[in-house]
Amino acid sequence: MKYLSTRGDPTLRGFSDILLEGLAPDGGLYLPASYPKVDAATLTRWRALAANSYADLAYEILSLYIGDIPAADLQRLVRATYTEAVFGTREITPVAQLEGGLYLQALSNGPTLAFKDMAMQLLGQLFEYELARRGEHLNILGATSGDTGSAAEYAMRGKRGIHVFMLSPHGRMSPFQQAQMFSLPDANIHNIAVEGVFDDCQDIVKAVSNDLEFKRRWKIGTVNSINWARLLAQVVYYFAGYFQATKSNAERVSFAVPSGNFGNICAGHVARMMGLPIHRLVLATNENDVLDEFFRTGTYRPRSTAETHETSSPSMDISKASNFERFVFDLLGHDAKAGARTKALFGEALARDGGFTITREEHARIASFGFVSGKSTHADRLAAIRGTWQRSHRLVDTHTADGLKVASEHLDAGVPMIVLETALPAKFAATIEEAFAGQGVPAPAPEVPAGLRGIEKLPRRFTVLPADAALVKRHIETHAG
Ligand SMILES: *Cc1c(COP(=O)(O)O)cnc(C)c1O
Repeated sequence: MKYLSTRGDPTLRGFSDILLEGLAPDGGLYLPASYPKVDAATLTRWRALAANSYADLAYEILSLYIGDIPAADLQRLVRATYTEAVFGTREITPVAQLEGGLYLQALSNGPTLAFKDMAMQLLGQLFEYELARRGEHLNILGATSGDTGSAAEYAMRGKRGIHVFMLSPHGRMSPFQQAQMFSLPDANIHNIAVEGVFDDCQDIVKAVSNDLEFKRRWKIGTVNSINWARLLAQVVYYFAGYFQATKSNAERVSFAVPSGNFGNICAGHVARMMGLPIHRLVLATNENDVLDEFFRTGTYRPRSTAETHETSSPSMDISKASNFERFVFDLLGHDAKAGARTKALFGEALARDGGFTITREEHARIASFGFVSGKSTHADRLAAIRGTWQRSHRLVDTHTADGLKVASEHLDAGVPMIVLETALPAKFAATIEEAFAGQGVPAPAPEVPAGLRGIEKLPRRFTVLPADAALVKRHIETHAG
């Protein structure tokens, strides 16, 4: 399998070439030249396989996309990633029935209690493997307001050839998030608490990455959500969810996905393109509804920082959706012509006009890709958390609540609706309490998994720095691998 850029650069690259990269040289995102199609016999074989081992299902799917890692090595890496010890259950992403045709697929039982572990844990294994094979090392630089940073650190801790420098806004993460990141004892993990807000952290990452000489010299890399390997890892659990919610491959299901940067649901789109019988992909946003607006109207209008709301489902607080370009390229036909048009939209119109509108014919094609969308507000979120607890006795987090709310607007009789659980409620205890306040019933306490109880009391390792790229560079120089 070879990979091309969404913006028309015809150079084809192998998986290992794009693994450690971010954007393609022409500014586009990488996608496979074509999607492998899964026939009925393969789907039947995978159903049997998935019943026994998530890792073996993952291996089958990944090997269709990875041509340059020997089979035995890939199998070993995947088996080392998806274990009951790391993800808490034998199923890895267990599906539970809530009521009627409504199901919940747990993607958040990994080390940081959010679905980003599903991909990041594999990325840690792949990066370590590929760097060793090349005799290289990497200094990963990132900015986080919570979830991504801790998922990256838990995936990369102790990995040979890798150091992680993670910037976060000093004193602004939740106490639980701070404890999660700062208590890691591993020597290759470097927490930098920046005296500023999240945007300052992001600006510093940009400034350091734009210094090409520094970037080359210190082997600076990223693990952001546009990384193709992350997206690919996420394709697997759509298959795993489908097999658990159905008895035969003649059935179809829908998935509802709490969305921000469009990474998670884009993996569902890839699974559907491969032939997984997905009826609808239900995209749920919070008050930051840039994607809901696009799917309803055909206009994509990224927001400014000032227009971006701080909500109670913070991991979906995005101003633009960094993976979204991948879907548009597919919508436009996934060929050279689509590349030229994607370039005109994302490379030109976006910078010139701050947004774009696709044509009516292009917009009409969206239905054939299964996408529908909706939006959820703070009040909707609280009602969904309460309602799900009262009806199904399952406590969900705020992001999953957004997914449940929008899912309820797109139910089709006879088609199971699988809502993806993207985080555990323990991470958002204050909003859970708010959802039950004044209801005359005691708020159920979110359960903290055994491994994370008491982490607030562990010693912390972090360095406080002013919001100054030059000082961050000096810190990297003195601590880098
Ligand atoms: C990152 C995240 C999301 C959004 O996922 P995307 O892939 O960016 O669409 C939703 N919920 C939680 C809990 C997250 O951490």
